[in-house]
Amino acid sequence: MATLIPAFGAGRAAPPAEASSSSHGFDYDLVVVGGGSGGLAASKEAASLGAKTAVLDFVQPSPQGTTWGLGGTCVNVGCIPKKLMHQAAIIGHTIEDATSFGWDLQRPEKPNWSTLVEGVQNHIRSLNWGYRVALRDKNVTYLNAYGSLLDAHTINTVNKRGKEQVITADKIILCPGGRPRYPDIPGAKEFGITSDDIFSLDREPGKTLVIGASYVALECAGFLAAFGYDTTVMVRSILLRGFDSEIAQKIGDHMERHAHVKFVRQATPDRIEKREDGRLVVHYTQNGEAVSDEFDTVLFAIGRDACTSTMGLDKAGVQLNERNGKVVANEADQTNVPNIYAIGDVLEGKPELTPVAIQAGKLLARRLYGQSAALMDYQNVCTTVFTPLEYGCCGFSEDDALDQFGEDIEVFHQSFTPLEWTVPHRPENVCFCKLVVQKSTDRVLGLHFLGPNAGEVTQGFGMALKLKATKAQFDDLVGIHPTVAETLTTMDITKASGESADAAGC
Ligand code: FAD
Ligand code: NDP
Repeated sequence: MATLIPAFGAGRAAPPAEASSSSHGFDYDLVVVGGGSGGLAASKEAASLGAKTAVLDFVQPSPQGTTWGLGGTCVNVGCIPKKLMHQAAIIGHTIEDATSFGWDLQRPEKPNWSTLVEGVQNHIRSLNWGYRVALRDKNVTYLNAYGSLLDAHTINTVNKRGKEQVITADKIILCPGGRPRYPDIPGAKEFGITSDDIFSLDREPGKTLVIGASYVALECAGFLAAFGYDTTVMVRSILLRGFDSEIAQKIGDHMERHAHVKFVRQATPDRIEKREDGRLVVHYTQNGEAVSDEFDTVLFAIGRDACTSTMGLDKAGVQLNERNGKVVANEADQTNVPNIYAIGDVLEGKPELTPVAIQAGKLLARRLYGQSAALMDYQNVCTTVFTPLEYGCCGFSEDDALDQFGEDIEVFHQSFTPLEWTVPHRPENVCFCKLVVQKSTDRVLGLHFLGPNAGEVTQGFGMALKLKATKAQFDDLVGIHPTVAETLTTMDITKASGESADAAGC
């Protein structure tokens, strides 16, 4: 349930805003800067509630020159192409399994990269088109232009031909998202690529070095290795910082032992050079030693920077976090400038996920132009990392729960082998579930699922966590057999017992 909390510095619940009116004298009731997941949701909702709305969306090409259409990161260079490439990897494994199930199939060494990219990009183009149509249908003015603030109500827009137009708005929502970060080392921007480029790469990636060790790095490494490319992940410290550390370890072990991904640990890149034959030589430091290796592709996945540095936010006086340039806002997503709001990846301290941006955008529009006071609930947001062994989670990691509740935490765990994996003899007991439970209340504070279809499993159980389900209620739930999700209904081995978490049979 969305919660009600005080507005910025006001010490009171966010009031339902007045319905739109043109009495303010500005060109628009609302201008949304950024037409990604959050911006499209907010602008369509605001317009359907009667607000005169414009959305600005403009894509600066990546250093490699890659650019794309309306819809932002998720659609063009994020969730959508990533999940489709992950699916291509799953299909490869399914073809491998097929022979054990009696199908007479030969798995080709690799998928055809250009066919894959073309299929993915065609789907993206259809989505770009669909978004344009949806904006038109909802009466949202779409400006394919870069917006920067001149003051709290005035926005300068520049389109791709350099034509400028100044527009004014009663209220502004900032949702420019972020872009991949490059390290400050020689050759990085010249020779490296990022997630902005990989999904439309016009050549096969070949032997690839992925630098970084979180969501983007591990997901990209997973599908590239599954496609048969020699893939190495360069890890500076740990895998998947912020996630449950035991599960991060299991993901790494599985990728290394079963998914053909190599890891170079405790290493950071120093410089990249291009040889005459086009190969890239990466010089790096590992445990204090200088090392080098050759690759066809170097993909940086070392985090993302908020797109706030050239948006004129200083002219409007919008407060940013000095450390990372993200926009600081209160629980009503309102910045320190009362008529300016922010949602999505640009927000300080909030999950960088598409459904979060969409939900925040819809709720904000309803607060501004509907009769709603409901605030976005940023707690217990489910997420899934689409690594070869998918990992879905919701709520507390074991590490964070122990930090916060100490002795009051009981951990239930269970390894398992999906039935579908038995006939093709896939590795046993690498899939894993964990419930983090508060002893004094019996409440399930954290749910972790490592196995096939983790996103689907976690989405459903996320509702249980939102409704504050207890461990007794999980135990009372009758499972669906034979599924992987039923494991979560039969968790009776505590970590404290020291008993093995490995499952023995059906
Ligand atoms: P964006 O979607 O980034 O949209 C911002 C838009 O604003 C962009 O089009 C940008 O070009 C434009 N813009 C920026 N500045 C201006 C300006 N001044 N004027 C006009 N336009 C401007 N999330 C998930 O939930 N699930 C996933 O599986 C998932 N996978 C991902 C995989 C990858 C490789 C990446 C990089 C991200 C992934 N994410 C995933 C995260 C998800 O894509 C983001 O959380 C989401 O797109 C954020 O939405 P947004 O509206 O904040 O910003
Ligand atoms: P993150 O900020 O999550 O991770 C950055 C990674 O790069 C860390 O492993 C970090 O290591 C490493 N790193 C940072 N700087 C350097 C450096 N100079 N040299 C070497 N390594 C470095 O970024 P991501 O790009 O992976 O993801 C961004 C966001 O996008 C995520 O937070 C997520 O919300 C979203 N996303 C969601 C997905 C999903 O829902 N499935 C998929 C992909 C992205 P260290 O730990 O040492 O700092």
